[in-house]
Amino acid sequence: MGRGPLSARRTGSPARPSPTRDASSTGRTIGLSPAGGGVNGGMKAVVWHDRRDVRVEEVPDPTIQVSTDAIVEITSSGLCGSDLHLYEVLGPFMTKGDILGHEPMGIVREVGADVVNIAPGDRVVVPFNISCGYCFMCDLGLQSQCETTQVHEHDSGAALFGYTKLYGQVAGGQAELLRVPQAHYGPIKVPEGPPDDRFLYLSDVLPTAWQAVEYAAIPPGGSVAVLGLGPIGDMACRIALHRGAGTVIGVDRVPERLERARRRGVDALNLEDFVDGPDGVVEAIRERTDGRGPDAVIDAVGMEAHGSPVGKLGHRMTSLLPDRVAAKVMERVGIDRLAALLLAIEAVRRGGTISIVGVYGGMTDPMPMLTLFDKQIQLRMGQANVRRWVDDILPLLVDGDPLGVDEFATHRLPLDAAPDAYAMFQKKQDGAVKVVFQP
Ligand code: NAD
Ligand code: ZN
Ligand code: ZN
Repeated sequence: MGRGPLSARRTGSPARPSPTRDASSTGRTIGLSPAGGGVNGGMKAVVWHDRRDVRVEEVPDPTIQVSTDAIVEITSSGLCGSDLHLYEVLGPFMTKGDILGHEPMGIVREVGADVVNIAPGDRVVVPFNISCGYCFMCDLGLQSQCETTQVHEHDSGAALFGYTKLYGQVAGGQAELLRVPQAHYGPIKVPEGPPDDRFLYLSDVLPTAWQAVEYAAIPPGGSVAVLGLGPIGDMACRIALHRGAGTVIGVDRVPERLERARRRGVDALNLEDFVDGPDGVVEAIRERTDGRGPDAVIDAVGMEAHGSPVGKLGHRMTSLLPDRVAAKVMERVGIDRLAALLLAIEAVRRGGTISIVGVYGGMTDPMPMLTLFDKQIQLRMGQANVRRWVDDILPLLVDGDPLGVDEFATHRLPLDAAPDAYAMFQKKQDGAVKVVFQP
């Protein structure tokens, strides 16, 4: 199963354009600036105000700022577990007024002079990472490390839509219109016909889950445990099964999420059923994998894992500090709750692989190096390189629906419902697994 890490592919690598500024532009050359700042009236957008305070507001329409930009009218836009980090613990890296969202698709309305691969009227999905397609990293298939859009100020990888100062503070896609930088490469043209849901998840969920499975390096017929059955973990289970894993075990604590995974053939374990906590879960996973533990574990939980007392204290502390101080503390120290990762390290078989897809952010997380080294664990992780996997995934979307994307969303809501939808998704109420806004 899977190709090696060096089998990078260039998905339609473009020639290097030399972006020129539009006459009205005040942006930098690569054209990554916060809000659209246009003068053509207003649009609705989901705007961050504070921890657990997002609002739908009128903001200026975005405009083309450099010749590699496009403007896309958004028809569907996902709400992601990553947005929940912004809603809560990553608050110190947000600025009041930031537009959220990084899982958009829609119709191209306008393109800059250097954007020739797409044209007004085209139906496109916009990858959450902003990448150029021609730099050293993009050539390697590491689009989430794109050297053209890296955020040097914070030593971060490629800029992302709607994702904090650390990632360029680019206006996001939970809005009626989106300015897409690097549009000569990023947007994925998709066919007319099927509903948006068929293609929307190419923006994040599908390539992210695909990369998680790829990095897990599950041998044919082998076993994998997926921790966290939110949209990412759920989809990783589906992809692992589709690509020939023999045993797929899922772990979560939300009954509907467990049930949903079971319906797709996952052996789903409820954390809450184990009175002796993580040890009991590890035991149950081992029982299902010849006593050794699975070949691979995918951590699809990340830094807000349930059941980590030390991290929880950190979360509380940073929420009491002024933002500037909290941001420094978080960058230098970290606030991760490591429960899921520690479970992964315990559960994986000796010589097995842990693929971390959940987002972490700390600098001084205590890691059990002895166990990692002694068990010879292979650790792989990172932000998804969206464009790299598109050619692998697209056939599964046009030829039937083997991954069940048509029915993947649990809630399709107007943009105005965003404040309630964020709260509902965070509290996992009303069976919410995947929320899609339809601006
Ligand atoms: P989500 O918040 O809906 O899902 C997380 C799930 O983990 C929840 O169902 C929760 O109940 C479960 N969980 C919490 N603690 C647990 C524990 N100790 N053990 C097992 N399960 C536990 O989010 P999502 O949209 O599925 O995203 C999952 C993670 O992936 C997030 O951290 C998100 O930021 C990250 N992500 C990463 C990328 C990437 O490119 N690497 C892209 C998208 C999302
Ligand atoms: Zn996302
Ligand atoms: Zn690049």
